[in-house]
Amino acid sequence: MKRRLLNLLTALSLLLCVAVVITAVRSFWTEDRFRWMRFDFQDRTRTTSEAHLWINHGHIGFERSRWEITYHSDTALSAMLSHPSNTPDRLRRSLYGHDSAQATPPAPRYDSIWAQLGFVGRKVRNVSPSFKPPPSQEPVTSSVRDDKVYATPLWAPALLFALHPALWSVRQWKRTVARRRSRAGLCLRCGYDLRATPARCPECGYTLAGATA
Ligand SMILES: [Zn+2]
Repeated sequence: MKRRLLNLLTALSLLLCVAVVITAVRSFWTEDRFRWMRFDFQDRTRTTSEAHLWINHGHIGFERSRWEITYHSDTALSAMLSHPSNTPDRLRRSLYGHDSAQATPPAPRYDSIWAQLGFVGRKVRNVSPSFKPPPSQEPVTSSVRDDKVYATPLWAPALLFALHPALWSVRQWKRTVARRRSRAGLCLRCGYDLRATPARCPECGYTLAGATA
């Protein structure tokens, strides 16, 4: 039962590894981007939260942006609220989406060795080129913006998922070798011919008692 579960996990791990590799290859032609957006308006502050999960050029990344615009003057506030696009529904809303586009070249590299390998995990400004800051003519009196980006090259999860099937294969191979040696009357550890001395291997000292364990 335990063995069957382990075999199932190995198969699943292998399947995930293959899926990651296929995804990685595909990502050099097509960028996939899953978007989540939320607009909120409270008191005098308009908040936009945006999260992106993207797969591009052999990498998977997550970006999160949040910006707040606070309208300090009443004229600025009423001007914003009277704009036809700023309906109450539009000011309190969530959006989800998925885009497929032609893959774009990777983002500029950063200094550290991890960044060179494609690992990114830090707060950055204006990472997403799709983001446009509010135009300067908009009556904004103060704004706060906070960006985070995390990315990993897809070979990392592929390697992780490959680990278990690889160990499983080594174990299977060892088992096959042991079975073959046992059938041929050879030492299970070193392969020395034990037909003359079946109890103990004169070459490496391996005992049959250990073989049954
Ligand atoms: Zn031996």
